Amino acid sequence: MRTQHAVRNIRLCTKDCLCLYVCPVGASDTENGQIDWQKCIGCGTCAASCPSGAISMMPDVLPPQQKKTEAVIRTLTALADDKMKEEAAALKTAEDTADPNEKRLAAALARSHRVMAEDLMREAGYMLPQSANAHELLVSMLDHPASDFPVKTAEKLLEMLKVNE
Ligand code: SF4
Ligand code: SF4
Repeated sequence: MRTQHAVRNIRLCTKDCLCLYVCPVGASDTENGQIDWQKCIGCGTCAASCPSGAISMMPDVLPPQQKKTEAVIRTLTALADDKMKEEAAALKTAEDTADPNEKRLAAALARSHRVMAEDLMREAGYMLPQSANAHELLVSMLDHPASDFPVKTAEKLLEMLKVNE
C-alpha cells in the first residue's frame, strides 16, 4: 500500500524532464507542473533523480503536530503581532513615498516582515494543515471572510484535511 507521494516545488524545477522519463506510471507532467496525486505510486524514483532537488516525498498521512507550551505560543504570537505591525508600517511607507527606490525598499521590507510573521505563526503551532488549530483558524476565517478570501478553496481544504492530533 502506498504511504507517500511525490510533490514538486515548481520554483526549483528547471524543466529538464528527468522525472517524466523515470516515472513508471506517467504521473509527472512537466507541462503543467503537476504530479498526479492519484497516479503516483510513491516509489520515490523521481525525487532521487531530480538534479534540482525540486521533488520531495510527502507522507500520505502527516504525523500529529508536536505540542508547544503556552509560554512559547504566547511569545511567538506576540513577536508575530510585532512583525505584522511592521509590515503594515512598511506598506504605508511604500504607498506614501514618491521615491521609486524608497518604494521598492519599503515593499521588500514589508514582504520580509510578512515571511517572518508566517514563520513565527508556524512555529507557534499553526504548522501542519491537519492540526486542530489550523482547522479552527480556517473555520474562523470562513465565518467572516475578507472580500478576497478564497472561500471555496478553504472549504475544500477543510473537507480534505482531516484533523490528526
Ligand atoms: S527532474 Fe526535477 S528539475 Fe527536472 S523536470 Fe523533474 S522536477 Fe523539474
Ligand atoms: S514517486 Fe514514483 S510514481 Fe510518483 S511521480 Fe515519482 S516516479 Fe512517479
